[in-house]
Amino acid sequence: MSSIRIIRGKIVNPYDIINNGAIVIEGDIIIAKGTFDEISERYKTDNIIGDLRSLILPGFVNTHSHAVQTLFRGAADDKELLDWLEDVILPGEATLTEEELYASCRIGYAEMILSGITTTNDMLTGNHARTGMQAAVDSGIRARVGKMLMDRNVPLQMLGKTDEIMKEANELAVEYPKGGRIQYSFTPRFIITCTDELMRLASAAAKKHGLMFHTHAAENRKEGDTVREFTGKGYIDAMDHLDGLGEHVILAHCVWTDKYEQNLLRETNTRISHNPSSNSKLASGIAPVLDYIEQDMILGLATDGSPATGGHDFFLEMRLATFLQKARHKDPKALPAEKVFELATIGGAKALNYDNIGLLEVGYKADIVVLNPTHPSAYPMYNPISYIVYTATSRDISDVFINGVHLIKNGILLQDMSRYYEIADRYAEERPFENRI
Ligand SMILES: [Zn+2]
Repeated sequence: MSSIRIIRGKIVNPYDIINNGAIVIEGDIIIAKGTFDEISERYKTDNIIGDLRSLILPGFVNTHSHAVQTLFRGAADDKELLDWLEDVILPGEATLTEEELYASCRIGYAEMILSGITTTNDMLTGNHARTGMQAAVDSGIRARVGKMLMDRNVPLQMLGKTDEIMKEANELAVEYPKGGRIQYSFTPRFIITCTDELMRLASAAAKKHGLMFHTHAAENRKEGDTVREFTGKGYIDAMDHLDGLGEHVILAHCVWTDKYEQNLLRETNTRISHNPSSNSKLASGIAPVLDYIEQDMILGLATDGSPATGGHDFFLEMRLATFLQKARHKDPKALPAEKVFELATIGGAKALNYDNIGLLEVGYKADIVVLNPTHPSAYPMYNPISYIVYTATSRDISDVFINGVHLIKNGILLQDMSRYYEIADRYAEERPFENRI
């Protein structure tokens, strides 16, 4: 029993709360859960973290991100989506060196972990995919990660030939198979940068490997108009014709969907990633989240990329998700805290097709966030879920475990990031996205 560890505090699951509780982890698994008295009777160890006041929650599941874009944070503010892409994001992604890309990803993943995200669903870029996958491995995060697939309408430096990029994607799917901490994901960017053939091949390959197909859809009105020019169809309808809907598919955004398209999403069990801060900052709109929930669709929350939101802050996403729906529907009951917390944890896990994360239960992976709520804003605390959704911030995080590994201890990330910060500072000074194309 030497390798076991006890985490003490209030256990806050989406569907149940245990006061003065404790969970026991061994290796990468939760092996017991109960009251602290029961657990300390059964398991003898000095390896105990947390106290009566700590809150223990399942790690957050981020259903859509771009760690690779971290170095462009702050360089593309206050722009339209398609200008944002063309002026900074695409030239930036196209010209990142391998070293810059690795640093960008490491900073992005570190930021996510420091915000309580233990699993993310990440898109890399067209180049250096293997280096990006390695950054995910080295960061300690749990993730589905994919090489960004693009075979039209992008800068030459990252324009791929359909068969060549699919060959690399299939190789990566074999190297990062179903079931690992890092699993490959087939990630075409969006219809505008992907031929019909590429979309269909990526979807079929994801199914064949038992992995996911992850892309953007129906984010912005102008983008929707362009897709209609290309395909003669609405975005989701077009995805349906490209074999791009189904249980193996997660679509980021889905801000602009009509009843017909919502039906398509529901009938095909397609997963949806809701990105409230990205949709706000890029002025894309407010997604019809209540419609999705009413129809029992599978939905999770997400931070998108740092230039789209300012940074990976899952507490901000939870709060904005509910505030936007309350304001839009002029209904204070819209998206209550309990529902938001569910979307942030088990909802995201279901949206990413995991059956062993998103809850603190015996047999589940030890992906755990511990909050130490001692800030003035933590007093009084009537309801921990209200606190987590409406009040808490990353500063409350004391410990994070992913796959049983202790990555944040007493609020400090146990990784030396100085080298990556130097690269980021140098990058911001040189602004290479302006002159490398
Ligand atoms: Zn995105």
